[in-house]
Amino acid sequence: MSGGETVLVTGGSGYIGGWCVAGLIQRGYVVRTTVRDLAKEPAVRAALGKIVDPGNRLSFYAANLTADDGWDAAVEGCDYLLHVASPLGVADPKDPNELIVPAREGAKRAVGAAIKAGVKRVVLTSSVAATNKGQQTSDWTSTEPADPRGDWVSDETIWTDPAARGVSAYAQSKTLAERAAWDTINRSDGKTTMATVNPALVLGPVTSGDFSESVQVVERLLSGRVPGLPRLGFNVVDVRDVADLHIRAMTDDKAAGERFIAAGQFAWMADLATLLRERLGSDAAKVPTRKVPDFVIRIAGLFDKDLGSVTPGLGHKHDYSSEKAQRMLGWKPRPLDETILDCARSLIAIGAV
Ligand code: NAP
Repeated sequence: MSGGETVLVTGGSGYIGGWCVAGLIQRGYVVRTTVRDLAKEPAVRAALGKIVDPGNRLSFYAANLTADDGWDAAVEGCDYLLHVASPLGVADPKDPNELIVPAREGAKRAVGAAIKAGVKRVVLTSSVAATNKGQQTSDWTSTEPADPRGDWVSDETIWTDPAARGVSAYAQSKTLAERAAWDTINRSDGKTTMATVNPALVLGPVTSGDFSESVQVVERLLSGRVPGLPRLGFNVVDVRDVADLHIRAMTDDKAAGERFIAAGQFAWMADLATLLRERLGSDAAKVPTRKVPDFVIRIAGLFDKDLGSVTPGLGHKHDYSSEKAQRMLGWKPRPLDETILDCARSLIAIGAV
């Protein structure tokens, strides 16, 4: 339990941010959260109310990643910062800076304000997109350089090279933001420490219709908004486990200065479809059964930006290891079935499919 310590969570209106706020309240912390627009407070409280009653232990602050205003006031007097907010984007925007600038400059603002306020520990939500093998930096010293198009397993020692060919704007934004945050911490006096959590594809229960882009994987399958099953696969991680890892990384002395991949089991789209059809009966009637050949997706990807961004991964198993978080912090990802079925049932319950 927390002894009433105060934590600032940035982006409490988001999927992971919301579950972090809930997890902290459940453990007895006093929580502040930033939103871009304070008019969102009632909707965020309503969504959160489905998980936990925050009583008088939750307050809201306005801050935008793209502006200096509000950050110092939000973090002053806090013991910890969970910096979760960052723009998401499956499809590449015309200008990568649309994602890169808010992510990187926002990370500098949030971490800089936390150092100034003397918080004990910052936990930054990075991504496995910042740990991609085959897109490594030139100072990466492993003896097994990987083909980005082949199968591989990655871990926290790997850094994506944001300048490498084929790296998405989102992967650039997460890598550059994480680098900027480490640089900011490393230049400070050392009193504030940092850890990062680098999640894979985050799924699990949603509490409102305004859900993260990652949830579209299950939403599109359930609503039949995909014509068939491409040979795409992901490491899935439960949003509740991602929140739990943030809190472990926040409080465990051993986590200072460390990156932690948050990833559960790898699954192909076809595995997810089979699971939904077998376990959800008529609720999964629209889930496709037909596999789509890679060439069809590649051609469609020429016209559809969302598809175009995923075609390089077709047929390849890009796996991420969370062995470090399990070994060092005692973290345990829950089984894939529970995550997928709870995600699907929550989408059905709110009428999103
Ligand atoms: P989400 O539900 O879309 O939440 C994103 C949050 O960031 C929202 O609270 C959003 O606030 C905030 N935000 C975006 N741009 C902002 C800006 N300019 N200023 C202030 N706040 C801003 O997405 P999520 O899945 O929870 O993602 C949260 C974090 O996890 C991100 O750092 C993301 O990169 C990382 N992550 C996600 C996944 C995944 O599969 N979902 C995987 C790996 C890493 P508004 O409500 O104002 O839009």
